[in-house]
Amino acid sequence: MHLEVQNKKLNKTMSITKGTPNTDFNWEYAPAPEAKDHAKLKKQYDLFINGEFVKPNSKKYYNTINPSNEEVLAQVAEANEKDVDLAVTAARNAYEKYWKKMPAKERAKYIFRIARVIQERSRELAVIESLNGGKPIRESRDFDIPTAANHFFYYAGWADKLEYAFPNRHPQSLGVAAQIIPWNFPLLMAAWKIAPALATGNTVVLKPAESTPLTALKLAEIIQDCDLPPGVVNIITGFGNTGAAMVKHPNVNKIAFTGSTDVGKIIQKSIAGTTKKITLELGGKAANIVFEDAPINQAVEGIINGIFFNQGHVCCAGSRLFVQEGVAEEVISKLKARMETLIVGDPLDKNTDLGAINSKEQLEKIQSFLKIGVNEGLEMYQSSCSLPKKGFFCKPTLFIGAAQSNRVVQEEIFGPVLTIQTFRTIEEVIEKANNIPYGLSAGVWTDKGSKIFNLTSKLRAGVIWANTYNKFDPTSPFGGYKESGFGREGGLHGLMPYLKF
Ligand code: ADP
Repeated sequence: MHLEVQNKKLNKTMSITKGTPNTDFNWEYAPAPEAKDHAKLKKQYDLFINGEFVKPNSKKYYNTINPSNEEVLAQVAEANEKDVDLAVTAARNAYEKYWKKMPAKERAKYIFRIARVIQERSRELAVIESLNGGKPIRESRDFDIPTAANHFFYYAGWADKLEYAFPNRHPQSLGVAAQIIPWNFPLLMAAWKIAPALATGNTVVLKPAESTPLTALKLAEIIQDCDLPPGVVNIITGFGNTGAAMVKHPNVNKIAFTGSTDVGKIIQKSIAGTTKKITLELGGKAANIVFEDAPINQAVEGIINGIFFNQGHVCCAGSRLFVQEGVAEEVISKLKARMETLIVGDPLDKNTDLGAINSKEQLEKIQSFLKIGVNEGLEMYQSSCSLPKKGFFCKPTLFIGAAQSNRVVQEEIFGPVLTIQTFRTIEEVIEKANNIPYGLSAGVWTDKGSKIFNLTSKLRAGVIWANTYNKFDPTSPFGGYKESGFGREGGLHGLMPYLKF
């Protein structure tokens, strides 16, 4: 198909043939902001303990902001050790009194109900997710919220089938699960944690990340609306010391943590010598590998999706690109052209590809890595887009000609920054891809199924995507090797960490 289009910026008519990436100009889109009047936020949020919102013993609140314009969205309670103790005690009582004894099929109904209400309120939740987290509304609307609902649906189905999931092993619940989550997928991470815990008959104390508490607090309202017995799910807010108090509490049986490798190590040390069960989902530095026989246009789209959409705020982001030498020039030039078309800006605009970086600290961390990359002598390429004056934003960035020894290759940046290395042989790329402390995910682009199988058996990564990237499904287990942590979430495997046999 051939199209004649008017380019407003260059004021001339350009012709495009469908299927050929156009590299000559930027499209200009009129703003298409999502309405936000239906997203109702309270001025102040208390702690959700024992089925009610209660004032924190600490008497302290902090501001949670919109990272795209730095405006305060609400005040949120800061839980101290006493509050943590109340939440854990509520969870323990609910476990002994109701949840442990409830027939599994009744438990399933509650979980199913949560899923339905998330679906019903998905527009409101998507807007709040983008307001508080900075991610583009397209992501929160089309991925985060539906996938969160799907996790509840999926695990509702397992609740009364545990004997079939683990035949002849008599699975039993553990008790109270302390769950600590990060800021990149606030509601989805809460769903990943809460749904399997409830399905297996455990009760929960969950803490969202300090910068993105609002959808978790909305989930607390949903749980209240769904009439869950009081104390089955408790949601408390606060900083690292709140999380540390949860981990140390003697009445906690299981810890599920997603966050940085450094904090994961601290948590693991602090429970040494106890019988607490633990799963850790930590950092990543995924290799995205493009072979000469790959469908290049699709691969370029997959690379862009893997690192730039969602601002690179994904632990499984494809942040290390490996391109086979013969196609390196073509891939890099097509990547640059595609980067020019990416729209960076208002997270609530439906056209936006990259929203805001989640916090000032995170932006500063990314900026320090940009300096490191330049000082390491790498060629830095950024798209020519302009950034909003207020808020925390970063241009999509490439580091071309990177080597294994570069810090920008070895360390997790958690931003829209892609390093590019070339390779000649399959052995070389396996060696390079694995030569990293992390092992969460990887991607491979090739026409040959045999190459895919060869690689997947040799790459030390928990999830490997072939000819696609960042695809998620509640039925698939997710988790890492090495410093990316251990234990799996999702699928049948995701039930196991919440059970004893
Ligand atoms: P990120 O780099 O993704 O922000 P962090 O590991 O710093 O990851 O934070 C992830 C979660 O862990 C957050 O909810 C945070 O409050 C919590 N946290 C931070 N420090 C600790 C700690 N020492 N013990 C328990 N939880 C913590």
